[in-house]
Parts: sequence; C-alpha cells; structure tokens
Amino acid sequence: MRALPMSALPFVLALFDAAMAAQAPPPPPPPAGYEPQLWQKAWALHHSALVIDTHIDTTTRVLDHGFDMGQRATDGHVDLPRARDGGLDAAFYSIYVDSRFFGDEAALFRDPPKDINDDWPRPAAPGSANGSARRALDMIDGLVRTVDRHRDRMALCTSADELVAAVRDGKHAALMGIEGGHAIEGDLGVLRAFHRLGVRYMTLTHTNHNEFADSCAPAEGRWGGLNELGRQVVREMNRLGVIVDVSHVSDTTFAAVLKEAKAPVICSHSSLRALCPHPRNVTDDMLRAIAQNGGAIMINYNCGFLDADYAKNRSAREATRRIQEKAARDKFAAGSAELQQALANLDARFPPVPRPGLQRLVAHLLRAIEIAGPDHVGLGSDFDGVPCVPEGIDDATYLPRITYELLAAGHGEAVVKKVLGENLLRVLRKVEQVAFDLRGTPPERNDTGAR
Ligand SMILES: [Zn+2]
Repeated sequence: MRALPMSALPFVLALFDAAMAAQAPPPPPPPAGYEPQLWQKAWALHHSALVIDTHIDTTTRVLDHGFDMGQRATDGHVDLPRARDGGLDAAFYSIYVDSRFFGDEAALFRDPPKDINDDWPRPAAPGSANGSARRALDMIDGLVRTVDRHRDRMALCTSADELVAAVRDGKHAALMGIEGGHAIEGDLGVLRAFHRLGVRYMTLTHTNHNEFADSCAPAEGRWGGLNELGRQVVREMNRLGVIVDVSHVSDTTFAAVLKEAKAPVICSHSSLRALCPHPRNVTDDMLRAIAQNGGAIMINYNCGFLDADYAKNRSAREATRRIQEKAARDKFAAGSAELQQALANLDARFPPVPRPGLQRLVAHLLRAIEIAGPDHVGLGSDFDGVPCVPEGIDDATYLPRITYELLAAGHGEAVVKKVLGENLLRVLRKVEQVAFDLRGTPPERNDTGAR
C-alpha cells in the first residue's frame, strides 16, 4: 500500500479536472425554471468534477434478476449509460446482505442466561442456518462478473489511487461496500477475507442487531451499542483500511464507534433527523461528531428519509389499502372479474402519495453543509435500493441538477466539488493512511473471551 502525502492532493485533482473536462458531453437544454447560464456552468462543473456515490444497490438487481448494467434500462436508477450521462464517475456498490440471511436469531433470544454471570448463547447456535457470508460472496461475484463483462467501460477499484486512475481512463469506477455487518458472521477472519476481496467499507449493521453491534431498527437494544467483539471489528477495520460505516446503527452504537475509531467514519447513506425525524437519520450532534472525527455523511435520496409527511401519508395509505385489499381477496375468487374490478377501485381510491421534489433533498444537503461543514458532506443515493426518490432526481442522469442547486444556493465551485466526491476521496485516503500507519500491528483475534 503506497501512502500519498495529503499535500499532493490538490495537484492530483487539478490534473484530474483537466482530463475530465475534455470528456464532458455537451449540455442539454436547461430543465424548466433553470437559469440557462447557471445551468451551462453547473453542467461543465459537474462533468469536470469527480462525482462519487457511496451507496448504490444495483448489485441486487444484477445478482437476483440478471440485470445487465451495460444496457440502458427504462426502470431502476443506475446502469452504465445512465451513469455516464449523469457524470457519475464512481460508486460504492452495496454488497447487501438482507437480515433474512442472518443465522437463527430467535434461538438467541429464547434462552437468556440464568445467572447474571453467565454469558448469552452464541447468536447462531452450532448447526443453525446462517447464509450471510455466502450471500455477500455471491454479491461480490455478481459485481465482479459485471465488471469483467464491461471492462472497456468499468473498473473494479480498491483504493483512492485506483479510483482516480480508472476515472481518468474514462471508466466508471466500481468499489465495494458491505451493507450489514452480519456478513462476517461474527468472525474477524471473514472480515479480513472480505478486505482481501476488495471490500472497502462495511455498514456495521443493517435492520437487525448482529453478533457485535446494535441496529437502529429494533426499538430495544441488545448490546447497548458495541460489545467487545464490536470494538475489535472497528479496530480491525481501521487496521485493514476498511471504512467504518455507521448508517443503520443505533445512536448508542454510533457513539461507541466514534469513541473506538482511529480513522474517519462515514454514514454511507443517511439523511438528517432535524428535517425528517426517522431513526435512520442523524441528529445535528451526530453531524458535529462526524465532522470532529474527520469523516463524512452522504445524504440518502429515499423519500421516506427526506420528508416526514411523505413517510406518514404513505404508511397510512398502505395500511388502509392492505386491509381493504385483503377483504376483497377474501370475498372474490382469485382471477375473477369481480376481484379485478375491486382492485381497480382500490387503485382509484388510493392513488400513490405524491413524491417530494428535489428541493427536499437539497434542503438536507444544505443543512448538512451548514452544521457539519463543507468538508464532511457527500452523496449516498441508495439508488436501486429504495422505492421512491424525489421528483427531479429520478435516476443517475439527473445528477447535474444537484450541482446546479448547490451553485444556485450560493455555494462556490470548491465546496460543490467537495460534496460531489472530493470529501469521500479524502476520507478514503485518510483511512488508507491510518492502515499504513498501523502496519505491523497484529491482527485482532476471535474469541478473546470478553464479549
Ligand atoms: Zn441501507
């Protein structure tokens, strides 16, 4: 691993800008309501800047549905042609492990220790099914096959230098981030193996508590944040150079991670609780803590994390609709004309809740810049992983509009470029530097006894 002095960064990026500007496609007409001159400026800036998204779930489409990223699709959010149109240079593809692959969690909670001095049982009792690591391996294979198939347009990257080089060569840089720490099945050796395969961040939890960390999703905590294995996982990730991702974790886990981490952390795809009070989002205090740590928050585009009214209306609509749909299905025979008519009536009575506009997403970006500072904010769309994105950021081709909106809000080019990708690049380099500095530190060992 070669460590690049941080002072060389501006020089490298200036070279990068010149190479990128030469590849920029001509600007299309400005969207309705956009000021033409500012649109031209935004387009040029966007296509000369390094644009990185830290969380894209297209990997699930690739693996489960045979989706070919090389073809322009009419559904979903990301493929190579649309990434190019939108100036999306690099992305962390989610090696997403759904909580259903986690080992037998019920067994764990069924059997609390009898005595306070006794330990809890192992999360997955010997012999119980746990498909988490294999699922992650299959996800990695899906992405590797995609990159192999489109090697003329795409490159698998495992470092900041590789990312910059791939983009300079006109390729879309694909990086890997695990989503759901249960992927390592509580085994530090598996974590090391994933690092060797090229994984460069790991979201410590998904919607489930796992062997070492609490998620924000279940109301009741399990470990009160990180347990001893969790602290080992954070230290080992720092030692290896895998970015610790605190999206999806509980507030107590968040605090414990920041205490333990020797390198910057990220929220790869989270939004702001001050603007939408969802536990997946971060508070202003958490924003300040991320800034203090030198890390970054990448704003999630999911309507339900951006707009509280949307989230409320949608869940109310779905609950009512579900009850009435069940009644109709109980009453009429499957496939009957009556059932079809009843479902059509329901569609008419429960029209989809209108999506929020791009301004909602921009509001989160602007507030994050204000609270955390311009060095600690980025883009983490959750494209292809969420059911709804705001109108005006419908897929990757719309990304230059974010650049326009940030300029229109009064931010200078330097700040906009940081948010588009330079902040993530800085964090990645710093995490690499910390790992370089920690070389020679012995690996963390499983089963040190304490939990
Ligand atoms: Zn997620």
